[in-house]
Amino acid sequence: MNVLVINAGSSSLKYQLLNVETQTLLAKGICERVGSEEAFHKHGLDKNEQVIDAKMADHDDAMALVLEALTSGPTKAIDSLDEIDAVGHRIVQGGKYFDKSVLIDDEVIERIGELAELAPLHNGAALMGIHACQKHMPDVPMVAVFDTSFFQTLPPKAYMYAIPYELYEKYAIRKYGAHGTSHRYISERAATVLDEPLDDLKLITCHLGNGCSMSAIDHGVAVDTSMGLTPLDGLMMGTRCGAIDPAIVPFIMEHENLNAQEVNDLMNKKSGLLGISGISNDLRSVRDASEQGDERAQLAYDMYSNSVKKYIGQYIAVMGGVDAIVLTAGVGENCEKMRRMIFTGLQPLGIKLDLEKNKGRGGERVISTDDSAVQIVIIPTDEEYMIARDTYEIVHERIDEPLI
Ligand code: ADP
Repeated sequence: MNVLVINAGSSSLKYQLLNVETQTLLAKGICERVGSEEAFHKHGLDKNEQVIDAKMADHDDAMALVLEALTSGPTKAIDSLDEIDAVGHRIVQGGKYFDKSVLIDDEVIERIGELAELAPLHNGAALMGIHACQKHMPDVPMVAVFDTSFFQTLPPKAYMYAIPYELYEKYAIRKYGAHGTSHRYISERAATVLDEPLDDLKLITCHLGNGCSMSAIDHGVAVDTSMGLTPLDGLMMGTRCGAIDPAIVPFIMEHENLNAQEVNDLMNKKSGLLGISGISNDLRSVRDASEQGDERAQLAYDMYSNSVKKYIGQYIAVMGGVDAIVLTAGVGENCEKMRRMIFTGLQPLGIKLDLEKNKGRGGERVISTDDSAVQIVIIPTDEEYMIARDTYEIVHERIDEPLI
C-alpha cells in the first residue's frame, strides 16, 4: 500500500510517498514559500533532488504540482494517482478530542478547525492541505495523525497549569505537548533495540532539533512532557526561549512597548540559542563560535545542555527512576559534544556515557557504558513512517482486510 504523507505548514507543504509493506520511500519533497513570488518546489530522493521554480498561489496549486511531479516527467515515482492508496496528514493540535489517529471525515475536519484557536498557524495550514487533497484525490481515504495525541495519557496533575481553573474550563488552557509522533516512534524503537517490552521500561525521550522537547514514558504510557499549551514551553531551543518566569512577559511588554503578538514573536523567533549567542539558531555555528572563544556562544551552549539535564532530573523524580534515555533529531543524533555535556555529572544517578561509543556515527545505537545502570540510546526519528503506518492500519481496518 502506498501512503502519501503530508505535512502542511503555513507557507510550505512537505510530503513523502512511502510503500508501507516494503518500508520503501518512493519520493519526497517540499514546496516552500507557497503564496509568494519566490515559491519553489524541491522534489526527489537525495541524489536526484531537483529544485523547480514554480508559481504557487496557495496549497491547492502546491498539491497539483506535487501530484504532477509524482506521476510524470523525470521525477516520476508512480504511473498514476490510482497508485496512492491513502493520505496521512500531520496535524499539530488534536486538543482533548483525539487521543489517537483517526480517519478524516466532515466531523474530524470541523474539530481540527475548532482547534485552530489553540494552534492558529499550524491547524489552519493542515486544513489547507486536507482540502487540497480532497480536491485532487476525492476518493482516496485520509487519516489525521496528531502531534498531541500521544500525550493525552498525561494525568491532570501533569497537564494542568496553576492558574484559575475557570480559564481551563473556558479556553481549554492546559498542557497538550508536541512532537508526540516522534516520541512514540523512538520509544517503540528503543524498546526493540534494548530487547525489552516497552511495557517494562521507564524511558526519558529527548527530541533535540531546532524545536526541542522531552517526555517521561512510564511503562509505555506518556506521563509528562516539556512542551505545553504550545510548543514554546520547556527546553531552550534554536529560536524559542522555553520555560521562563511568566512575569517576564508583561515586564518586556511594558518596558519595550510591545503588544502581545510582538512579545510572542520575540519568544518564538528571536530567543533560544539565537537570542543568547546573537550568532545563530543552528547549534553547529554556536559550537564553532564557542570553540573560537565567543563567550555568549559558550553561554548559549551551556544553557542548552543545562536545560536538558534539568528535565532528566525532573523525569527521574516523576517516574521514580529511569531505565533508558533516548535521544533523537539533529542535535540528539549528531552532536557528540552536546551529548557529552548533557551527561557529564550524571554518574551518581547511574547514567554513564561511553565516550568512545559517543563518537560513533549513524543509525540506532547504545552509547552508554556496559556497566551503566541507565542505558543511553540514539534512535533517528521517523515521523513520516509513523504517520504512514497509522494511516495504513486505519485504512486497512476500514476496508476490513487483514494486516500484513
Ligand atoms: P528540525 O527541528 O528543524 O527538524 P533538526 O532535527 O534537523 O531540526 O535539527 C537541527 C539542529 O541539529 C540544528 O541546531 C543543527 O545545528 C543540529 N545539528 C545537525 N547536525 C549536527 C551535527 N553534525 N553536529 C551538531 N549539531 C548538528
